[in-house]
Amino acid sequence: MPFSDLPARLHEIRERVDRAVARGGHRQRVAIVAVTKTHGPEAVRAAWDAGIRDVGENKVQEALAKMEAVDVPARWHLIGHLQRNKVKQIDGFALVHSVDSARLADAVHAHGIQRGRAVDALLQVNVSGEGTKGGYPPDELRAEAERLATLPGIVVRGVMTMAPFDAPESVLRTVFAGARAARAVLAEVGHPATELSMGMSNDYEIAVEEGATMVRLGTLLFGARASDAPPQDQMTDATFRLTALDVRRYDFGTAFRGYDKTRVDQFREQVAEEIERLTRANQELDEKARNFLEQLRAFRERDRALNEALIGAQKLREDTQAQAEREAELLRREAQLEAERTVAAARRDAEREIERLRGEARRIEDEIASLDRVHRTYIAQLRLQAERQLAELAASEAAALPPVPQRARLAATGGGEDDGRAAADATQKTTE
Ligand SMILES: *Cc1c(COP(=O)(O)O)cnc(C)c1O
Repeated sequence: MPFSDLPARLHEIRERVDRAVARGGHRQRVAIVAVTKTHGPEAVRAAWDAGIRDVGENKVQEALAKMEAVDVPARWHLIGHLQRNKVKQIDGFALVHSVDSARLADAVHAHGIQRGRAVDALLQVNVSGEGTKGGYPPDELRAEAERLATLPGIVVRGVMTMAPFDAPESVLRTVFAGARAARAVLAEVGHPATELSMGMSNDYEIAVEEGATMVRLGTLLFGARASDAPPQDQMTDATFRLTALDVRRYDFGTAFRGYDKTRVDQFREQVAEEIERLTRANQELDEKARNFLEQLRAFRERDRALNEALIGAQKLREDTQAQAEREAELLRREAQLEAERTVAAARRDAEREIERLRGEARRIEDEIASLDRVHRTYIAQLRLQAERQLAELAASEAAALPPVPQRARLAATGGGEDDGRAAADATQKTTE
């Protein structure tokens, strides 16, 4: 039985992975992706039987052949460079690890849209900057992540990276930590970026310590590969690609030299078929063009409707503004009238108050005048009283003096008894 020691190897690897998780402290779950490239379908079968559920391949064609050949529901991972013209063939893969350029990302997105289901993918990041490795430079990742956030045909699940082969541990750690930082950038932009695909047979324990959630193991599980050079995808199979027409032309050339009638007929038939195929393709294109035109018309229609709505809105705004101005003018006039009314009322109140105060002043003046009159009467009485007392005093003094002859006294005063009476009368008059 091929790969009979696989279960034992796997057991050992899992224990090492667990210990590396504990050392690294990232508490992540780690999936082991069995890299079966260059091995036959029996490697996939053996991996499945040993309990591995994830299988990795670096070439689309090779993977498709194995998918056909083994009947296990493994999750297939595409871990090698993907050419844009192969994008339509990736439906058998659960995850594409190697989206390494904007152009490829666009093609993957377009395919996701076309098939009606987004493609789960990791962005390959070239942390070490080695020229031989593909992937986004880390400093271009944020801008690209923001761009990809607008492409619904691709779902960015995380980051894949490859460390330089046989580098010292410190370099490996720098590269793996760089990939972890790249994943954080994707998450910040809003991608569901939880996966970190890094670590191969020779460096997986360090990768796990640095947070790897997927390690891609080939050699360690299945032994050395036939061509045991470090993995390189430099020579793409486009280099060797022949078109169907190239093959037919070659066929025809060799056949024509011997003028084999059946080959000539066959060629004619093939050409006819090709023309039919092209005609069909042409018709499909026509159909598509018609659809586009239809869409364009619909867009223009919508554009026109929007424009009209816009103009309507503008006019409405102008009307509303005029109305508002009219109302404002009315309000202003009303406010002015109200103000005038208030001022007039206030003035009337003030005048009334002034009138009242003047009345009050007159009343006080009157009062003062009457008080003055009383005062003057009082003074006059006092004076009269004083005079009367003086007169009495004078009289009693005269009584006490030696008697003056009656005649002399009468001559001196120029009157008689009548004079005394007239003086009393005058006093009486003043008192009244
Ligand atoms: C081949 C390959 C691996 C596995 O390499 P091993 O040295 O056998 O572990 C991992 N990743 C990629 C991209 C590969 O091409």
